Amino acid sequence: MKVAIIGGGIIGLSSAYYLRLQGHEVSVFDQSDGSDNCSYGNAGYICPSHFIPLATPGIVKQGLKWMWNSRSPFYVEPRLDWDLIRWGWKFMRSATPKHVANAAAPLRDIALISQQAYADWHRSGLDFLYQHKGMLEIVQTEAGERHAKETVQQAIDLGLTDTAWLTADQLASYEPGVRMQARGAILFACDAHCYPNRLMQSMLERLRTMGVQFHWNEGVIDGQIEHQRIRSIRTNAGSYSFDQVVLAAGSWSGKLAKAFGLSIPVMPGRGYSITTSESPMQLNYPAILVEGRVALTPLNDSTMRFGGTMEITGHQTPPRMERVQGILDAVKRFYPDFQMELPKPEQVWYGYRPCSTDGLPYIGRPRQLKNLVVATGHAMLGLSLGAGTGKLVGQLIDEQTPDMDLRPFDPDRAR
Ligand SMILES: Cc1cc2nc3c(=O)[nH]c(=O)nc-3n(C[C@H](O)[C@H](O)[C@H](O)COP(=O)(O)OP(=O)(O)OC[C@H]3O[C@@H](n4cnc5c(N)ncnc54)[C@H](O)[C@@H]3O)c2cc1C
Repeated sequence: MKVAIIGGGIIGLSSAYYLRLQGHEVSVFDQSDGSDNCSYGNAGYICPSHFIPLATPGIVKQGLKWMWNSRSPFYVEPRLDWDLIRWGWKFMRSATPKHVANAAAPLRDIALISQQAYADWHRSGLDFLYQHKGMLEIVQTEAGERHAKETVQQAIDLGLTDTAWLTADQLASYEPGVRMQARGAILFACDAHCYPNRLMQSMLERLRTMGVQFHWNEGVIDGQIEHQRIRSIRTNAGSYSFDQVVLAAGSWSGKLAKAFGLSIPVMPGRGYSITTSESPMQLNYPAILVEGRVALTPLNDSTMRFGGTMEITGHQTPPRMERVQGILDAVKRFYPDFQMELPKPEQVWYGYRPCSTDGLPYIGRPRQLKNLVVATGHAMLGLSLGAGTGKLVGQLIDEQTPDMDLRPFDPDRAR
């Protein structure tokens, strides 16, 4: 079959990989030149530990406090935008304890499928500095410690049995080279990480050798629909016919879905990262600084990445350097000897997470269009769930029984 994939981020490339392996003729369309998107500068965590979705009662409460402070980890740019208002309303409605409980098993399952797929890619010789050594979630406050201990129990109950609480002394033994201000940490031995830029570049190279066609700088505008099927897609350069289409346009997917007559709410959640090979601090383990909402990743022996913040904003809004300063301030609160000047704007990377209304991805066939598979809305987890999503997309296109129950990811659920 001829399959078009809209979007050349990790979700689009992973889908292209499995579809090509399954013998399909695959074309990837991307509005950019493919050298950067949200899948490049992220923290690189491949993390079954993230079984708590973005939409939680806690984030709504905390977010309401933080949202007017442009330095805070979570910020909603106030603007009169009906899509944002509708998205925000649905997000708040889904942020319930019941939703958090129901989301845990599906998130764990897709993360484990994905991690297995990445491990296979690594074994097959794909060079992306994949390491399965675990991740630390470091806390500073009493409330943070209480919550962390509950999370450890939840993880164990979910079968992630190699999760453990580390006291401050135990934590120090994992990172003997740095002084930390912390009460302790969760050690998630189940987690892996990689160098996402290398992953994307190696994947592009592999896909080219496999015969996947790339249409860079060719944004998809809309499509011609007849009898509930996409007959052709229209780009800025022409029209093309395909048997099947995969919508994997990241944070732009909501807008594009509308052009196909669908309602799949996705908001861009901007985050920033700084990558330095002259880091004043080297860590052994990737670490999330819980109260600072910052992620640190040792990408290789000499390169560190500092990333974070969630800013619900438009794609055109200029980057806010005060938020980058907020990341550095948070690192300093946890590592008092850390010193880093605010980098120049051109040294700061930023990308737009595709945020669904309930923190779960949309993966599946919408009822309105019979030859479309949607694969988007992964928010903070797109890298982690990327390879697994690609595998599931391959199964959906070939109408095989998917490796997991996809009902929680139904793309029609937020209509
Ligand atoms: C600071 C930060 C840290 C993060 N850390 C992690 C992490 O550690 N682990 C994790 O799992 N996730 C992490 N994430 C989230 C992760 O990066 C994203 O979820 C993931 O990259 C989304 O992948 P995607 O393929 O859906 O979108 P993207 O990578 O954004 O790709 C979408 C592509 O679609 C293209 N496109 C859009 N519209 C069109 C159109 N109309 N026609 C053609 N092409 C189009 C775009 O040009 C783009 O190339 C992080 C994100 C940020 C910002």
